[in-house]
Amino acid sequence: MKFGGTSLADLDRIRHVAGLVKRESSRGHEVAVVVSAMAGETNKLIAWTRDLSPLHDAGEQDAVVATGEQVTAGLLAIALSANGVSARSWQGWQVPVQTNATHGAARIESIDPALLNTRFAAGEVAVITGFQGVAPGNRISTLGRGGSDTSAVAIAAAVQADRCDIYTDVDGVYTTDPRIVAKARRLERIAFEEMLEMASLGAKVLQTRSVEIAMLHGVPVRVLSTFEPDGSGTLVCDEEDIVEKKSVTGIAYSRDEAKITLHRIPDKPGVAAAIFGPLADAGVNVDMIVQNVSEDGKKTDLTFTVSRTQLHRALEAIEKAAPAIGYRDVTHDASVAKISIVGIGMRTHPGVAQIMFGTLADKGINIEVISTSEIKVSVLIAEEYVELAVRALHAAYEMDA
Ligand code: ASP
Ligand code: MG
Repeated sequence: MKFGGTSLADLDRIRHVAGLVKRESSRGHEVAVVVSAMAGETNKLIAWTRDLSPLHDAGEQDAVVATGEQVTAGLLAIALSANGVSARSWQGWQVPVQTNATHGAARIESIDPALLNTRFAAGEVAVITGFQGVAPGNRISTLGRGGSDTSAVAIAAAVQADRCDIYTDVDGVYTTDPRIVAKARRLERIAFEEMLEMASLGAKVLQTRSVEIAMLHGVPVRVLSTFEPDGSGTLVCDEEDIVEKKSVTGIAYSRDEAKITLHRIPDKPGVAAAIFGPLADAGVNVDMIVQNVSEDGKKTDLTFTVSRTQLHRALEAIEKAAPAIGYRDVTHDASVAKISIVGIGMRTHPGVAQIMFGTLADKGINIEVISTSEIKVSVLIAEEYVELAVRALHAAYEMDA
């Protein structure tokens, strides 16, 4: 069972969570609980480190921000004991959850299940701090924002749990963001691949890395609400366990997009490498890319997208590499957004993308870039049309409740 920050925001909620854990353990289950920090705590801790020094050591930032989860883990263990449930809190280093040395965005390398298994055998609930582990050199590390989802799924995989239940402030995964589309529906089931696309394309219910781990280890994940715990939530599972494979299961969007175009680059071998090599070296993640054929066989244009936060870094890298690339000029636009339709049924249903293009055309929305994979189609459009586009597509694919 994993509980997010809003589920643990104050002592009353922690008492409520203890009740949910008690219910599960009295049904005869062995339970590990993974907790986030109280809502707002992590932001506050990060702000403190930045206030003291903007260029502080990432390892020390981790030493500070990991404390948020230490508080909730201890408090929940106390609330459980007070409720007659035998429980102990554990921090990342105590389990241990071993990570690599990338402080602030560490990856879990291994989790030893031995200690947890001994505690389960003794009839104890283990309450574990999410979001953190221990890096080489015995330093505390954290997994990146939203990382306690990843902790929970990784621990579930390590102890070979039957299921990982993610308790949050929404009652499941929706066809799209219900704040934009009032007719969005909760999904009973969604395949790992679909959830992975939805998470990485902008849906914020689960951290992307947690879905990767669930898929890799085949851990079924259920997303459900702490405040309506009797709902069935959404099961993230193997596609084999989904009977009706819809062509479009969900629509995701991201406003964190920026577009860069290089005009009149030479159309010859090595040019793409001259552009994307320096971007990679600068740590810029490139997402969509389009290059046209050149009319004269000599010059063409190339457009790509990056996240808005990396726009400046990307432009700097491109300007530095200008002599090697040889473009005429470069333009950029940070008021674009990406809309994506996702569904495993797309592999077998023809004409899925055409409905998207036709629907956007009817609304007079211009498509700037398109990219596809087996189970998704993404388009880049002007940011001002995001809501209109998502609503129109939700209706066009007959997803409205
Ligand atoms: N407390 C951490 C954060 O706010 C981890 C999490 O909540 O998943 O990012
Ligand atoms: Mg979260």
